[in-house]
Amino acid sequence: MVEGVLTSFRPSQILLTPVSFKQQSQGVVVLATGTAFPRDALWLLELVRQGYGLALNNALTHSQLQHIAAIDPLTDVYNRRFGLARLHEEFGRSRRSGSPFGLCIFDIDHFKSVNDTYGHLSGDKVLTGVAEQAREALRSEDILIRYGGEEFLMVLPGAATSQVAEVGERIRKRIEEMRVENNGTSLSVTVSVGCSAYPDDQVEDEQTLIGHADEALYQAKAGGRNRVVRYRPATSSE
Ligand code: GH3
Ligand code: MG
Ligand code: MG
Repeated sequence: MVEGVLTSFRPSQILLTPVSFKQQSQGVVVLATGTAFPRDALWLLELVRQGYGLALNNALTHSQLQHIAAIDPLTDVYNRRFGLARLHEEFGRSRRSGSPFGLCIFDIDHFKSVNDTYGHLSGDKVLTGVAEQAREALRSEDILIRYGGEEFLMVLPGAATSQVAEVGERIRKRIEEMRVENNGTSLSVTVSVGCSAYPDDQVEDEQTLIGHADEALYQAKAGGRNRVVRYRPATSSE
């Protein structure tokens, strides 16, 4: 039985042909009919097969290239360059529509000592685990970016001020509870989180919003680490 979007039928004839490009297999073209194929069906199939080989190859190459350009290979989240471009787009959209917008930066605490004690590869494992925890804690419309070595940006479109620090706290807690198995040892780390939110923070551009979150992160580190700090201006304008 062929069950398609537009029609379902029991085929009486089926033609199959592999699709390849430069000896690389790409898939299979299946033609089915409930009646009988015309005499030149095989010739048509050959024509389709040749065209599909090239088109499928182009489509696959394009999406693979896009993936390489956008995704950090270690942590599988957006890399800095692509992530900041997405942030720019999303912040522009929020400003135009007047909807709230949240941002958190988090940085692993004393990560250098993880590398120094257990080695760089173990450090990489922890980094991957941290990114995974953050991704699982976020909604699908949120954006996670590897901003620096062991520093991540979370972009939260539509998140109101009160929600931003809540998200930060959720991630902080998840990571605190995370255990990474490594050669019979269980590794754990904590993160410090800095948050900022538009329109409460009256910023014109996303770079300033990042600056605010970064300042809050600095305060979280200075305050003892493993905590979330919401940006507050140093001097209020009363
Ligand atoms: P703090 O609590 O102040 O953030 O201390 P820290 O040790 O985390 O900060 P510091 O900036 O001194 O060290 C960051 C470390 O992150 C040093 C660097 O080797 C490590 N790092 C950065 N990128 C990677 C990576 O891709 N893999 C591994 N294993 N380590 C990395
Ligand atoms: Mg650190
Ligand atoms: Mg750092």
